[in-house]
Amino acid sequence: NGDASSSNHSRRRSSGTAGPSASSTPRLIALQEQRRQLPIAQGKDALIEEIRNNDVTVLLGETGSGKTTQVPQYILESGLAENGQIAVTQPRKVAATSLATRVSTEQQTPLGSTVGYSVRFDERSSSSTRIKYMTDGMIVRELLSDPLLNKYSVVIVDEAHERTLRTDLLIANLKTIQKQRNRPRDEKGKGNADKMSPLKIVVMSATLDAEKFSKFYHNAKILYVKGRQHPVKIYHSASSQPDYVDAAMRTFFQIHTDQPPGDVLIFLPGQEDIESLENSIKLFANQLPCDTMDVLICPMYAAQAPGQNAKVFTQTPTNTRKCILATNIAETSITIPGVKYVIDTGKSKEKRYLARDSGGGFDTLLTKDITKSSAMQRAGRAGREGSGVCFRLYTEDAFNSMELSAEPEILRVSLTASILQLKCLGQDLEELDLMDKPDFDSIISALKTLWLLGALDNNKKLTPLGRQMASFPLEPPHARSIIASQAFACTAEVLNIIAVLSSSSKLFVDVSTFRDEIATARQKFRHPAGDHLTILNAFRAYEEVADSESKSARREWCRKHFLNERALLEAKEIREQLRQVCARAGIDWKATCGENEDPVIRSLGHGLTMNSAFLQPDGSYRQTMGQSIVKIHPGSVLCDKKVPAIIYDELIYTNQIYARGVSSILKSFFVTHAALNQRNA
Ligand code: ADP
Ligand code: MG
Repeated sequence: NGDASSSNHSRRRSSGTAGPSASSTPRLIALQEQRRQLPIAQGKDALIEEIRNNDVTVLLGETGSGKTTQVPQYILESGLAENGQIAVTQPRKVAATSLATRVSTEQQTPLGSTVGYSVRFDERSSSSTRIKYMTDGMIVRELLSDPLLNKYSVVIVDEAHERTLRTDLLIANLKTIQKQRNRPRDEKGKGNADKMSPLKIVVMSATLDAEKFSKFYHNAKILYVKGRQHPVKIYHSASSQPDYVDAAMRTFFQIHTDQPPGDVLIFLPGQEDIESLENSIKLFANQLPCDTMDVLICPMYAAQAPGQNAKVFTQTPTNTRKCILATNIAETSITIPGVKYVIDTGKSKEKRYLARDSGGGFDTLLTKDITKSSAMQRAGRAGREGSGVCFRLYTEDAFNSMELSAEPEILRVSLTASILQLKCLGQDLEELDLMDKPDFDSIISALKTLWLLGALDNNKKLTPLGRQMASFPLEPPHARSIIASQAFACTAEVLNIIAVLSSSSKLFVDVSTFRDEIATARQKFRHPAGDHLTILNAFRAYEEVADSESKSARREWCRKHFLNERALLEAKEIREQLRQVCARAGIDWKATCGENEDPVIRSLGHGLTMNSAFLQPDGSYRQTMGQSIVKIHPGSVLCDKKVPAIIYDELIYTNQIYARGVSSILKSFFVTHAALNQRNA
């Protein structure tokens, strides 16, 4: 059906943020002028004509040409989307939210009215929303309640070249949806015929593999937008730089001391490198002569509190140079005002799932060379508002030998959650018309996990439990734990823990230089059973403080205990949404087990069965469902403890395989659990 009722579990806020009040302020006039100057503006009429005449349009354009912000507005103004909303998908949350903010300013409407966004656990839209920026994951979720996406008359798949798993699933589904919705009227299914309005698809990308998308959509028309908005001068280093953090620091200070004002954006692979570069830049900045500009450092990475990332977009104070240290979350889609210089280390971290049958069963996160397409995107960030400069900390030869673009995610990540979602849609991943087919091993691995969780039966058929799991906006193991908590009457506790684990930032601030102080400060939360109950203790303690103290006292309390208040605030909101899902599923979310917390661990155990390991005689832990030896992560409260059996949230592979988020569990749990599973299967 095509009604616009809430189909996801996201928060709905009223749309009331300050929007621009007068439409004639100089700033707004300049903004509209800037829109008209974008390269894409010249092709506007032709573009709309093409979209009007074709079911699918592939649009290629250099970064900064105006695709993401302008095309949805053109479609809106042209009336092409009269029967529904315009969805614009983004691989990343921060892109979706920041683009919605920008475009609502351009539309001179408050965020959440004409222009809104929808990302996991956060939504800003209303019944009047016409353009919705959303993550590719959110729209794939919406398929569950609206299988033909009737709510939308245009779906714009942006940054399609990133080929995230969700984008690939969306692209495949859109093809069949369009076939159904665009059938000639008299062929449409009886009864539904009037409700179905045709669907337009626009695939947008900045790089060169347009042909592949076009072929997939029956040789869809490809359009090109010419011209970057502003030139970016690119310098390569003369020799390779093995210590890229050090090289980045030197390059930064060369810019800072020699070059005219303008902010600097440095691309690094991950949080550790960002922290280490932040420290060394701060150290050296203090030693500069006092007539040099100040340096303001803004880290930007996915695991950071959302508010911290938003800081990046605020205006740089006078006589200051902002230095943004970012992972590839700043690589595409977004514009960071003020950035004139980009330093590209040429590295990024890539998540790759090692299928259980190849001896893995876990995600690896390794630093590797970026692709040509990433390098071009990174350089593009310097030319958004004026001409810019990009310093590549690698040689031109190295650039030339880079892969053209990244391997599609579907070939390298865990498929568990997606296979479950597809099963709910009555689809099998193996049979889907995909642009690239995943590995057999990785499908088998996901099917096994789903079977172990009880989501699939022996014939790979979806069970009622599986369907219930899919109704949670969570990874299947977490959903399974919540459902298990019903039988143990401890849903309140389990929801607290899962909510914290689902927050986008980490609860426990971990700065390696303060490890001892941190351990002392958090001593009182430590639970002998491990990290999950430690999280629960910290969350409970926070809520007691939150109930009785002022906002500033609360903040101070968090600071003193090295807790990230953002994570706690976000967790409270997530918990609220999970409670609603529980209520709909008839699970009593108020059920609590009181002092005896053993049921909590058991509930978690039901979700984390495949994430378990037994202690070996030699003191190491061996995976129960794999061959690997794992170590307990140094950040865990169980770090140097020996317990007979553990469950863990995740394995990360750096130079060793570490289990993170660890709890001790009775070995007998697995024996009874396996027996139960066998009986039920
Ligand atoms: P594309 O998708 O083709 O890369 P966008 O539509 O994202 O281009 O952006 C086009 C231009 O709009 C940018 O080059 C920049 O000048 C301007 N712009 C976009 N977002 C912002 C923002 N948040 N702040 C300031 N300028 C912006
Ligand atoms: Mg874009």
